[in-house]
Amino acid sequence: MHCPFCGANSTRVIDSRLAAEGDKVRRRRNCNTCNERFTTYETAELNMPLVRKSNKISESFSDHKLRGGMLRALEKRPVSDENIETAIIGIKKKILSSGKKEVRSEWIGERVMEALRQLDDVAYIRFASVYHSFNDIGEFIDAIKIMEKSSANS
Ligand SMILES: [Zn+2]
Repeated sequence: MHCPFCGANSTRVIDSRLAAEGDKVRRRRNCNTCNERFTTYETAELNMPLVRKSNKISESFSDHKLRGGMLRALEKRPVSDENIETAIIGIKKKILSSGKKEVRSEWIGERVMEALRQLDDVAYIRFASVYHSFNDIGEFIDAIKIMEKSSANS
C-alpha cells in the first residue's frame, strides 16, 4: 500500500477494526516516511458466480440483496445476529462451491430457504411465501408440513 501523500511504500497499520456489517476491515495506516495517516478498507474478494434471474438477465451477485432478503424474513424474530451471519456465510459457501459461473436466482432462493428453515420457522414461511409466491396451494401446504415436521423434531 503506497502512501497517498508521498508515495512511499512503507506504511504500517496502527489500528484495525470491522466496518459496515462485518464484511469490511477498516485500517488506519501511518506512513513511515512522511508520517501522514490515512484509512484503507479491505474486503474479501470472492469470485461469486453471476445470478441469472427469472427474466433471463444475469447480474452480479449481491451480498446486499441476499442479506436484505434474509433480514426482512427475520425481522423481529428471536435469531441472533451471529446466527444470521453464520447462515449468510454458509449460503455464500454453497454458492461458491457449486463451482458454476452462473447460478439461477431460484437456486439461491432455495439455499436461503434451507438456511431459514434451520434458523426460524416463521422467517422460513415468510421468505418462502414471498420468494416462491407459492404457485399453488399444494406448495404452501408442503411448506407448512415441513415446518411442522421440523418443529416436532426440535
Ligand atoms: Zn507518506
